[in-house]
Amino acid sequence: MYGAGACTLLIRDDQVDSRPYSFSSHPDQPELRFLVKRVSGRSHAGQFSHWLAGRKTGDEVGVGTPFGLFSPGLCPNEIWLATGTGLAPFLSCLRGSNPPRSALLYVGVRNSEEAYFHSFLESRCRVEWRFSRHKVSRRVSVEEPGFPLDPLREYFICGNGAMVRACREGLLARGILLGRVHEESFFG
Ligand SMILES: Cc1cc2nc3c(=O)[nH]c(=O)nc-3n(C[C@H](O)[C@H](O)[C@H](O)COP(=O)(O)OP(=O)(O)OC[C@H]3O[C@@H](n4cnc5c(N)ncnc54)[C@H](O)[C@@H]3O)c2cc1C
Repeated sequence: MYGAGACTLLIRDDQVDSRPYSFSSHPDQPELRFLVKRVSGRSHAGQFSHWLAGRKTGDEVGVGTPFGLFSPGLCPNEIWLATGTGLAPFLSCLRGSNPPRSALLYVGVRNSEEAYFHSFLESRCRVEWRFSRHKVSRRVSVEEPGFPLDPLREYFICGNGAMVRACREGLLARGILLGRVHEESFFG
């Protein structure tokens, strides 16, 4: 059993390699789901995500014990900030039968073609999309005008390290207590 927001290790069937991934399914759903980006880059980069992408129906992938302290969805009026596959833990929350509809989700992706789960997300909570490669580039940022800064709300940040650090520092600089800022960094 895992909680919404938890991670686990996915493990190659020959056990030579593994990587952590957040569950994107809700604990009440019968199947386990993951939101995985196939990454590429220099020489050996992207080994595990390419291996995962090559799995066919019926292939086996090992799943480790759930872990992590990132637990969005437990308080009213939470603010969620996600970039890319950092959406996974919030998807997990929203896939439950009683989703936290008062949550406000900021999602950063490159363009509208990458706005996956658009209709689903908007049917479950309030969503603000930010497109970095649009005519007018906008990124997820706590510094934008009108961003809700409220010392009584809980802030959950998930995605690449640079975005997570920038949002955390921005929130702290604007008077949000560290205990209200929860983060999960996937890389960088
Ligand atoms: C706690 C935790 C939870 C994670 N959950 C997820 C998840 O739900 N979905 C997911 O896709 N990944 C997730 N990751 C990242 C994942 O563990 C792997 O690092 C990723 O799949 C790349 O592995 P690789 O072997 O293919 O590439 P590597 O060769 O290990 O990495 C190549 C480069 O890809 C970049 N990169 C890594 N992950 C991503 C990503 N998600 N999006 C864009 N660029 C990336 C980094 O710059 C990295 O240096 C998580 C990582 C952590 C620490």
